[in-house]
Amino acid sequence: MKTKIGIPRALFYYEFASLWVNFFSELGLEVIISPKTNKKIINDGTIAAVDDACIPVKIYHGHVINLRNKVDYLFIPRIMGITKKEYICPKFCGLPEMIKYSVKDLPKLINTKIDLMKKDNLLNQMLEVGYIFINDKKRIVEAYHKAKAIYDYEKSKLKLPLVNNTNNVVIMGHPYILSDDYLNMNIKAKLKKAGLNYLLPEMFDDDILTKYAKQYNGKVFWYFFHQMIGTCFYLLEQKLVEGIIYLSSFGCGIDSVVAETVERNIRRNCDIPFMLLTIDEHSGEGGFNTRLEAFIDMLKWRKQNENYISPYGNYLYTR
Ligand code: SF4
Repeated sequence: MKTKIGIPRALFYYEFASLWVNFFSELGLEVIISPKTNKKIINDGTIAAVDDACIPVKIYHGHVINLRNKVDYLFIPRIMGITKKEYICPKFCGLPEMIKYSVKDLPKLINTKIDLMKKDNLLNQMLEVGYIFINDKKRIVEAYHKAKAIYDYEKSKLKLPLVNNTNNVVIMGHPYILSDDYLNMNIKAKLKKAGLNYLLPEMFDDDILTKYAKQYNGKVFWYFFHQMIGTCFYLLEQKLVEGIIYLSSFGCGIDSVVAETVERNIRRNCDIPFMLLTIDEHSGEGGFNTRLEAFIDMLKWRKQNENYISPYGNYLYTR
């Protein structure tokens, strides 16, 4: 019987899924991924996690609980950084400990450190993971390269040239919020149903976002700041979107700075409508839908108003 390894479908799973799943499969393991987020997963995670954790971290706990009796190992890497010279949220560095002390009866944890901040040493880190299962460097390196090629291809498929479409709406936010349709209350499907075309930061070329992030008058030392502020300045210059929605998580320390900075820059420098939606485990879909529908209606009415002027005044913020 094959050894089973579990990967929680949450947080950076959405970024690295194809790399991790193909790597472990190439090593001959059976990879079990937790199901898509559902009510039970959120409830279990909320009960298990510490109260002040953000909703994506609580959901991660729920996915671990779903997997714990089904696998021999759980892959919960200690992610320190995924790009050079940029920090990510400290919750990722302490995730293995959070899980260990909040969830009982766990299988063996693989909590290898993944740190891509200083140099591209992902291969060495995956070698460390591979040696847990087989003592064959050549096979592990081959497994890594096969998985990395698939990962690179899939990432490249997401990139889109930004085209002028009068129905473009950008949804900004951390990738694990935008990819988890239960958590983001199916916002993408709702926009599509309303006849709008949605764009996500991950669809824009990384080099373009880096170039535009440099316009920020300050040091961009967080990965999420880089992504969001780069997207923001890119959109401000291109003016090819009708509206911008920022989905944030209640209690997110990073977004208390990033979302605020993005909002100020958008409101000060352009007249593109912007809406910040903050979600947590108590967010009701009714309230979420009402705000989204009002935003969509406003985008449509705006096109019919020849003066293009908001009924409540020009801008909330001034230069
Ligand atoms: S960046 Fe924010 S939403 Fe993401 S894990 Fe950290 S606190 Fe949670």
